[in-house]
Amino acid sequence: MPKDGDDKENAHERERLLSSYGVLPSEADHALLLRMIEDYLNEGLVTKVAPFPETDRQFSAILDELRELDPDDLRAKLVISGWLLRPHGPDEMRCQECMYYLVHRRWCDLPELSLPAEPEWWCRLWRI
Ligand code: SF4
Repeated sequence: MPKDGDDKENAHERERLLSSYGVLPSEADHALLLRMIEDYLNEGLVTKVAPFPETDRQFSAILDELRELDPDDLRAKLVISGWLLRPHGPDEMRCQECMYYLVHRRWCDLPELSLPAEPEWWCRLWRI
């Protein structure tokens, strides 16, 4: 259950998004969502790139966390999924090779994320 402090922080973040972009993430088009994501990461948002889910159970636990989020809480979505604007790890994992990536739409089709993504990006829900 969200705490009062979380509610205040979320309300403040919604106001900030509205004044910066004119809409909330749930109303934003592909280009604007892409910009919101890039801005968060370029402004230094630290995301949970670890632990990488090694088992189905660990993977599902991350999905459960994502499902609990307010649809406009883009920042938390990026943090929980461990989003990065670059490939990750010695194998240079990236969206381009992920099973959820729709190359032509430049879109992550994992329902719990459902966000635009560039081929060179990555998150810890990466799967092949
Ligand atoms: S699940 Fe992660 S790695 Fe896969 S397409 Fe979506 S954002 Fe990219």
